[in-house]
Amino acid sequence: MEKTAGEKLREQLFYTKKHVAELLSEAEINEAFEFCKGYRRFLDYAKTERRAVSFTERLLKENGFVEFEAGKKYKAGDKVYKNNRGKAMIIAVIGEKPLSEGVKISAAHIDSPRLDLKQVPVYEDSEIAYFKTHYYGGIRKYQWPTVPLALYGTVVRADGTSVEVAIGEGEDDPVFYVSDLLPHLANAYAKKPMAEAVDAESLNLIVGSLPFKDDKVSEKVKLNLLNILFEKYGITEADFLSAELEAVPALASKDVGFDRSLIGSYGHDDRVCAYPAIMAAVNCGKCDYTTVTVLADKEEIGSEGNTGLNSSFLKYFMGDLAAPHNLAAREVLCKSECLSADVNAAFDPNFPEVFEKKNASFINYGVVVTKYTGARGKYDTSDASAEYTGKIRNLFDSNNVIWQSGELGRVDIGGGGTVAKYVAALDVDTIDVGVPVLSMHSPFEVVSKLDVYMAYKAFSTFLEQK
Ligand code: MN
Ligand code: MN
Repeated sequence: MEKTAGEKLREQLFYTKKHVAELLSEAEINEAFEFCKGYRRFLDYAKTERRAVSFTERLLKENGFVEFEAGKKYKAGDKVYKNNRGKAMIIAVIGEKPLSEGVKISAAHIDSPRLDLKQVPVYEDSEIAYFKTHYYGGIRKYQWPTVPLALYGTVVRADGTSVEVAIGEGEDDPVFYVSDLLPHLANAYAKKPMAEAVDAESLNLIVGSLPFKDDKVSEKVKLNLLNILFEKYGITEADFLSAELEAVPALASKDVGFDRSLIGSYGHDDRVCAYPAIMAAVNCGKCDYTTVTVLADKEEIGSEGNTGLNSSFLKYFMGDLAAPHNLAAREVLCKSECLSADVNAAFDPNFPEVFEKKNASFINYGVVVTKYTGARGKYDTSDASAEYTGKIRNLFDSNNVIWQSGELGRVDIGGGGTVAKYVAALDVDTIDVGVPVLSMHSPFEVVSKLDVYMAYKAFSTFLEQK
């Protein structure tokens, strides 16, 4: 049927979002689902920033990447990576164009909200042994009790040697657990505001309950626990002082829905951007511009520390890359562009009141481009320019990257930030691009497979641009 004048005009003048499934062929949808099998393997291994780095390092080596050497003059086609203290990473593929024309940076983070052990965590109460925790990043504390937890990290012993801990997800492994109150006795607690219902100091992990058999000693359950830890890891209570141990949900990723269109997992934020960015770097082949893929730590606590992007590790890397070409880092950075790869809040029909529907992102509507994040009148955001936003819009549109615009919730309802402002502060054109997530920062977040695949297409298109 012939379209009316009004229909035609509407098509020309209105901005309308479309469901990705309406725009992709059956073959492309299958390709997206295949891609997500690899993503799920990454999710299930890379539960912490250290595990994400070791997974990625192995993948890079298998694909011909070698360790970066400062001062070496690299040529087109060279593939390098720099491991920053086992917790962050920079991957670079050298392009045909000179560095003076700038590089294309994708920056994602590989840390996620979790429960960190305190430095003196072990205690016994009423013949149960516990580890005390200090939560890391923004969590809704009531979501963490009664979830099986695994424990990952590194303990440095008194003699300087160290031991890796990874327990809770092997077939036969035990898990750890924060208990919650039964409803029968929760009347008073049920009336508390949610933010106060679970005290941070009650997020204590149950780690044992059998006593050491000796009538003479006190704290027998704690002693029995420390005896097991000494036999298994060669550590004492004092060794926790120099340890980084992270409790994360001991839940494997799962397809969600009868149609298997979604993935449920811990830590989509921000592995759902890190994995597509890594794969785009690994698969980019010959590129015109040099590509730089950054996997950052500490984003969830403000990008602080020497493995977070509010430090100089990216700037120094760029300096080391540029120096053999008689260029300063700033001469490369000022010509460079960045996709700050991080998730956005997907519109949730269960909670429509916190979103503004015209500007919210939706699952299955493609990769989200977020011009600004921030809170309270755009505080703490770099707010990409119209020019750079226009350039990315055009790049995606002309390469069949299905994308949508997004904003993190209604104005003044909350907000948040990403690494974008730290990269922008290096004089780089930067915009946020990522995947919409349901239940962000919960122990089991949900994303759409089609959006994950569109993120991969977005990063690939960005890195391979002419
Ligand atoms: Mn994030
Ligand atoms: Mn986050």
